[in-house]
Amino acid sequence: MPTAADLDAAIRDVPDFPKPGILFKDITPVLGDATLFKASLDLLAETAGEHQIDKVVGIDARGFIFAAGVAQLLGAGFVPVRKKGKLPWTTHEMAYTLEYGESIVEIHADAVKPGEKILLVDDLLATGGTAAASIKLLKALDADIVAVSFLIELASLKGRDALVHPHINAILTY
Ligand code: AMP
Repeated sequence: MPTAADLDAAIRDVPDFPKPGILFKDITPVLGDATLFKASLDLLAETAGEHQIDKVVGIDARGFIFAAGVAQLLGAGFVPVRKKGKLPWTTHEMAYTLEYGESIVEIHADAVKPGEKILLVDDLLATGGTAAASIKLLKALDADIVAVSFLIELASLKGRDALVHPHINAILTY
């Protein structure tokens, strides 16, 4: 199985996207390689440890790609946290700031039952605003968040500090 170093070699740095000063981590080369994509899902699924996860929650939009695959590996359901206005049913919403702008995320009010064991997944931890808002949404639903896992962490942005959770995992840290 490929290692985290193989994933690192495939991830493409794109300067000044989508705004000047942002070094965008392009994960599409990982997705486009069947073996690397599988490895990224396996490594993220391992972060659940021995816990029996009920739902893997993915964050709009690249988080969906990883969370859905991890949910299949763990035999869990998948729940999307989406940008405002995309979910059709009754939602809870949370405003947040991100590395390049402001936004609101939503979750379906009936997506997670109280006490369900959750693995929260996104592609990348930057300032942590998106994940922190997602954690707040899940806590409002009385979910049991087992771990919060990212393929990539940009450590210099200290997003970890914004997430009030004891189990934060990153496969690759820059
Ligand atoms: P944040 O809320 O600041 O932690 O931002 C995390 C979200 O924004 C993730 O869902 C990423 O997909 C995206 N993102 C932020 N910064 C970057 C970056 N430098 N490269 C790629 N994606 C990014």
